[in-house]
Amino acid sequence: MVKTSTNRNADTASFSVATFLTPSVFRNYPQLSLHAESLQALRVRLLYANLPVSIGVSGMLAFILVTVQATVIDPERLTAWSLALTLVLSARAVLFAAWRRSADESSHAAMRRWLLLFRIGAVLAGTVWGIGGVVLAPPGNTGHIFYVSFVLIGLCAGAASSLAVDRLTINGFLIAVLLPHTFFLANLGGSASLGMSVMSSLFLFFLAASARHSALQLEENFRLQHIATENETKLRQMLENSPIATCIADAADNRILFVNQSYLALIEASPEQIVGVSPVDYYAKPEDYTAVSEHIRAGTQISNKLLELRSLDGQSWTKWTLASYSPIEYQHKAAILAWFYDITERKLKEDHVEHMAYHDALTGLPNRSLILDRLQQAQTEAELTGNMVALMFIDLDKFKPVNDLHGHNIGDLLLKFVAERIRGCLRKTDSAARIGGDEFVVLLPALPAVKNAVDVAEKLRQALNLPFEINGLILNISSSIGLAVYPEHAEDTQSLIKHADIAMYYAKAEGRNCVRVFQPQMQDRGMSSP
Ligand code: GH3
Ligand code: MG
Repeated sequence: MVKTSTNRNADTASFSVATFLTPSVFRNYPQLSLHAESLQALRVRLLYANLPVSIGVSGMLAFILVTVQATVIDPERLTAWSLALTLVLSARAVLFAAWRRSADESSHAAMRRWLLLFRIGAVLAGTVWGIGGVVLAPPGNTGHIFYVSFVLIGLCAGAASSLAVDRLTINGFLIAVLLPHTFFLANLGGSASLGMSVMSSLFLFFLAASARHSALQLEENFRLQHIATENETKLRQMLENSPIATCIADAADNRILFVNQSYLALIEASPEQIVGVSPVDYYAKPEDYTAVSEHIRAGTQISNKLLELRSLDGQSWTKWTLASYSPIEYQHKAAILAWFYDITERKLKEDHVEHMAYHDALTGLPNRSLILDRLQQAQTEAELTGNMVALMFIDLDKFKPVNDLHGHNIGDLLLKFVAERIRGCLRKTDSAARIGGDEFVVLLPALPAVKNAVDVAEKLRQALNLPFEINGLILNISSSIGLAVYPEHAEDTQSLIKHADIAMYYAKAEGRNCVRVFQPQMQDRGMSSP
């Protein structure tokens, strides 16, 4: 993985510099890495990349020049010059072919050799053109002389852009092409020729200055690129071995740019498995990422955000992490650096402790605190909606004898089965709680009428009255259920609890295994829980 990422980064880095200069160059040589090359190697590569076009343009210009001058220049002279240029251009074409074959060779010595050969080829071509500027210009025929000047100046302007990366080459070429013709023009005498001679030397000077500027720009870009690449390499090395799971993703399209081994371990994936995957695909709630993106776009950091991650199939695993995010620049792109602390174990423990604080350990049902909380909530909602809230107190009848006869363990198991049976009679929105030994509470929120609650209570009573089979024993038990409904029987939750409790004691007093709905006169008879 590390290797893959390094290679890919190197390619990207190379491409970025190339994009600034001449994009086609690096598309031709994507396998070459900027990390290993010197500025000189980059120069050589750029020079050779433009060579085929230079040879082609040079040949075409020569053909046109020879055709035009054929009417005024001796054919033998024209042939001799054409042969000389063809020879030099062919030699340069062979040089290019040799370079292409050995383009992988990136040692300093090899690069120096390629540069020297290129310089020789360029200066030789320039010299042939320089000679042409003298021998192909017919003295006395101003029109044809100026035509030669025009061709040479055009040739130099074109060469300046492709040879600018190496000052020695461009200067050697410009001097070789233009200097002989400039002297030739000066020697002709006459104001027009002299003026052309001055223009030619000025042009030579301007082209050399502009080539120097381009070369300096290349050096500066290379230096900045080198610093950026070095910093990025250091950051990557630091993160690669970090025990903190780290991921860098493209801020624009969330594409993964870098991950370390700890991150792969966290998401339980191999390097191949994350190709083309967005880090957000591992978020249990992808919308969690929206807030992150907004902060990152605003340039701010996020620290220790509680985040749930899950496997891509959504089933294999779920993990809790503390995630932190920072905006960074990576591979010349706006990116998001994210690191994750796996706190799954701690979170599960905390969840367990919290569950224990609000649930009954034996049956797993909510305990008194939680049911009171839910009751309060249901009452507040009922106040707004105009619905009713029913509260039932259920106490098992003659449960103590079960303990006495069959032992506490069987008693415990019976309590568990009772809890299950109660839950089985309720809807998802209803709540059941165990608030004491054999005492349960049922809460029905959002109730349309008292009758519905009475029906549920009756259903519960009947369900608990059916035999329980525990460890081969058939146990029969019943329950006494007291019911009170808000706002029918109480104005607040406190009175609702009290009234449901009173109703339950009435059920006990009136023979057990029955449901009693609270009546105001029950209070008058002074019956309530001890
Ligand atoms: P009644 O019909 O009047 O309700 O009498 P009862 O025998 O059901 O006794 P009561 O409701 O007054 O008391 C509940 C008994 O439940 C008391 C205690 O022995 C037993 N008990 C309380 N907590 C537990 C528990 O966690 N496990 C078991 N197995 N028994 C418990
Ligand atoms: Mg009881």
